[in-house]
Amino acid sequence: MGLQLQNCLACGRVYVDTGLGMCRDCYEKELQQEDKAASYVRDNPRSTVKQICDGTGVKERVVMRMIKAGRFVSGNIAYPCESCGAMITRGRLCDKCNQDLLKQVEEQKLRKVAQNVGASGRGMYSKDMGLSGPTDKL
Ligand SMILES: [Zn+2]
Ligand SMILES: [Zn+2]
Repeated sequence: MGLQLQNCLACGRVYVDTGLGMCRDCYEKELQQEDKAASYVRDNPRSTVKQICDGTGVKERVVMRMIKAGRFVSGNIAYPCESCGAMITRGRLCDKCNQDLLKQVEEQKLRKVAQNVGASGRGMYSKDMGLSGPTDKL
C-alpha cells in the first residue's frame, strides 16, 4: 500500500490522498459549509442557489455539488441553466435550451446529408466526335 500525494482541490496544498479530493482542513471546512447550507434550505425550502450563497456565505461550488448529489430533498432549489442562465430545478439545461439543442443536432444531420448529395452530382462530358467520314473508293 503506497501513499498517494495530491494537490488539494480547494487550497492547492499537497496532501496524502484519502479519496476526499481535498485536504483534511478543507474537507472539514466544506462539511461545515454543507451543514450551513443544509440548515438554510431547511428554513427556506424554495431558495435559489444565489440566495443560499448570500445567506450562508457558502461557496456556489459546494451548493451545486450538494444539489447534484441530491442533498436537498426538502425543496426545489433553483439554479441557472448552463446555457442561458434561466432558473431551473433539475437537469443541466432549461426546457428551451433542451429544445434548441435537439434542433441544432437535427439541422446538423440534414446539412450533412445535403453535402453528400451535392458532391456526387457532378456531370461527366462525353466527347464523341463524328469521325465517320466517307471512305474513298478506288
Ligand atoms: Zn485544502
Ligand atoms: Zn436555458
